[in-house]
Amino acid sequence: MNIREICKDAERIGISGHIRPDGDCAGSCLGLSLYLKKLFPEKEVKVFLEKPADIFSCIKGFSEIVVLEEGMPKVEPFDVYFALDARKDRLGAAEKFFEEAETTVNIDHHVSNAEGCGTYNYVYPEASSTCELVYELVEEEMLDADIAAALYIGIVHDTGVFRYSCTSPKTMQAAAKLIGTGIDFPKLIEETFYEKTYVQNQIMGRALLESMLIMDGRCIVSYIDKKTMDFYQVTSKDFEGIVSQIKLTKGTDCAVFMYEIRTLEYKVSLRSTDKVNVAKVAEMFGGGGHVRAAGCTMNGTFHDVINNLTVHIEEQLEGAGA
Ligand code: AMP
Ligand code: MN
Ligand code: MN
Repeated sequence: MNIREICKDAERIGISGHIRPDGDCAGSCLGLSLYLKKLFPEKEVKVFLEKPADIFSCIKGFSEIVVLEEGMPKVEPFDVYFALDARKDRLGAAEKFFEEAETTVNIDHHVSNAEGCGTYNYVYPEASSTCELVYELVEEEMLDADIAAALYIGIVHDTGVFRYSCTSPKTMQAAAKLIGTGIDFPKLIEETFYEKTYVQNQIMGRALLESMLIMDGRCIVSYIDKKTMDFYQVTSKDFEGIVSQIKLTKGTDCAVFMYEIRTLEYKVSLRSTDKVNVAKVAEMFGGGGHVRAAGCTMNGTFHDVINNLTVHIEEQLEGAGA
């Protein structure tokens, strides 16, 4: 796929990623927009996203993101619209911009989006991150430290600092080129991935303290309800990293972390080893993701949700001969 070719005749280009943007989503959207602005300084290039966490404000262009809100004024259709790190139905309020655009491009690495939803599709589930895919599409001589920092952050977040199995030789080669631009990568890793605010650590502590082993210790579950969120004054952005931390519990094949987004409605995060395909579990409930990291939204009490999930997790474990 050639981004220069696809965009050469466009006057207005829009870019969006999924709701509740993570590092890969924010990094790929901003990295691509920096690249497009460098290729075509005369064109209008806009990024529409729900507000990403403040830790990503170190990425150039962060302050120019148009934050998606209810009741946004109508926008003229774009000539080219990019959906990154998601299929179009996860773009939230930006889905209509994608649908109205003349030409659409989908760059993604979710197995639950294997076909792609654009006029042009660059969808590779084996890629570590959407940032790795955007890196492949950036012309080498156009790469600079600002684009590199954006893409590096996304790769770091989706690979858990190069330790998840989605990390490949290609990922490391991309990372090598990116750090070759001179970015302060230890600082980017420390300040966007590891560093937590005091309340973020407190809420992680609560989630760990209240976690429970189920299914003979093969699965670990924890949740934070709305009341607890209000008590600590935390939002969904403060839960990044909790499910991965819970998953580190020795002997578990699957981890579930959920938080209440509305009364009796939970955002569920699933993580696993190779024995449980959590993308399949999440798809049962209208969600999706990757084999070892997936998510969905579910209704009911914490116990209802866990009961509904465990049926499918058990099925997977049995299938794996456990
Ligand atoms: P999370 O648990 O939110 O960190 O998500 C884990 C992975 O699954 C990420 O790659 C998400 O983009 C993806 N994911 C989460 N929720 C959904 C959903 N409802 N539909 C499709 N993919 C999802
Ligand atoms: Mn993502
Ligand atoms: Mn991703």
